[in-house]
Amino acid sequence: MNPVDDTIFGKITRGEIPTEFLYEDDLCVVIRDLYPQAPTHVLIIPRQPIAMLSAASDDDQALLGHLLIVAGKIAEQLGVQDAFRLVINNGEGGGQTVFHLHLHLLAGRDMKEGELAQGLAR
Ligand code: 5GP
Repeated sequence: MNPVDDTIFGKITRGEIPTEFLYEDDLCVVIRDLYPQAPTHVLIIPRQPIAMLSAASDDDQALLGHLLIVAGKIAEQLGVQDAFRLVINNGEGGGQTVFHLHLHLLAGRDMKEGELAQGLAR
């Protein structure tokens, strides 16, 4: 890979930066967010470094579906059951800061209607 395209999440998924994996399989890893925005805030990160959701192609369909299935499983593992929010920030204008696709799973606080538009409510 072009080193310019590498990110902190590339290094984490490859095991180059020691990070606790709450879950891992051949396709993705799940880690805690360094700056949690909710009592439970984890990141579901594919090992394949897709820069952002809008850069995904039809070939990534199975992978993207897999990430959603993992989200449901990890929510159960973390004990938040069906009370969680998934967020994908896409592009700089969408609030993305790390350009390696990832899903935020947030739980453990009230997810009020009005907060939806605020995304991660930073
Ligand atoms: P984005 O803004 O791209 O949607 O989300 C990036 C997320 O990654 C942020 O919530 C930020 O707190 C988190 N983050 C940034 N660097 C690291 C890191 O080195 N380790 C972990 N665990 N999370 C990080």
